[in-house]
Amino acid sequence: MPLQVEPASAGPARVNLLDLDRAGMERFFAEELGEKRFRAHQVMKWIYHQHVTDFAQMTDVGKALRAKLEAKAEIRPPNVLFDKPSADGTHKWLLGMDAGNAIEAVFIPDKGRGTLCVSSQVGCGLNCQFCSTATQGFNRNLSTAEIIGQVWVASKHLGNKTHLNRKLTNVVMMGMGEPLLNFDNVVRAMSLMRDDLGFGLANKRVTLSTSGLVPMIDRLAVESDVALAVSLHAPNDALRTELIPLNKKYPLAELMDACVRYLRHKKKGDSVTFEYTLMKGVNDSPETARELVRLMKAFSNKMQYADAAKVNLIPFNPFPGTRFERSGEAEIRAFQKILLDGGVLAMVRRTRGDDIDAACGQLKGQVMDRTRRQSEFKRKLEQQGVTDAA
Ligand code: SAH
Repeated sequence: MPLQVEPASAGPARVNLLDLDRAGMERFFAEELGEKRFRAHQVMKWIYHQHVTDFAQMTDVGKALRAKLEAKAEIRPPNVLFDKPSADGTHKWLLGMDAGNAIEAVFIPDKGRGTLCVSSQVGCGLNCQFCSTATQGFNRNLSTAEIIGQVWVASKHLGNKTHLNRKLTNVVMMGMGEPLLNFDNVVRAMSLMRDDLGFGLANKRVTLSTSGLVPMIDRLAVESDVALAVSLHAPNDALRTELIPLNKKYPLAELMDACVRYLRHKKKGDSVTFEYTLMKGVNDSPETARELVRLMKAFSNKMQYADAAKVNLIPFNPFPGTRFERSGEAEIRAFQKILLDGGVLAMVRRTRGDDIDAACGQLKGQVMDRTRRQSEFKRKLEQQGVTDAA
């Protein structure tokens, strides 16, 4: 049954302050409220450091300004429909959007760090063959408030203190959706993640992952300062196009060149992470590993320093109805060894949150699909006799 979500409250439209980054807040305070910029900064600290949403609780903000804020603004984080801890410490939130849509955010604690996996769209339109979000189809982009709101909800839940007791140390834009297709909202939200008045994360601790939208990678290099991850999954065009239809539009040579340009904009020594999901008999052969070594070497040579490329090997996470399988442990190890022996930095990302369907590519909030992908996928599943993929 579709989830029922309350529509946004009616009445005169108030600005949700979670939609504004520091520049936007300063502008709003100056132009709409006739207030100095340090007032905007005070309110940001209440929102992001103290998790306060009620203007009345902002004790260092004068009564008159609080009344103006009440009239023109609100702080409305996403609605938590439910949250679910996993046995391994992973935590998942299902957040209600409008019209019965829901998205997911996942927190993954690890030695000395805590990573939040954040969604950028309701569903996804790119149709990567091995990703469960693709089977949901696409509905819409998330607003800045809905993106930063995921960090806000997790941070509040964890009792995170921005400059004191930091539990949330990293954010990866690796949840539902293609972040570069929602460029402005994602960049604004990432600026709040990094801002001292926001969550104060270091630039290398915010990572945007893309399936490879070449022109947008160039824009990102100029307009933001975050780490880049690219979903590669194959070292040649024939295989990559099969797995990621977008590769037809932006083939590998163009994508790798865009990564070179990206790094040239950054500090020397920075790297691009290439994600590689290992699927049995599809992209996990020793021959494919050697081809990947050549591709990564060519990239590092262009950058003229070692380790400009890092490969993240992700054992495939299955979902109902998928035709792919996870590679065997021996194949995963052998694949990694070929990369390491070839001088390519390669790590295996161990699956977390398996028991709550929170692993990579398994996120599936409720999506009111605007494409026909969901119904087509369900029909295909029914033909196969699979019924538990609602
Ligand atoms: N659209 C962006 C971000 C979302 S995907 C992108 O494509 O990068 C986040 C990562 O999970 C990507 O590397 C994606 O390819 C990977 N992934 C998707 N489905 C997966 C699955 N079933 N098993 C393992 N990894 C998967």
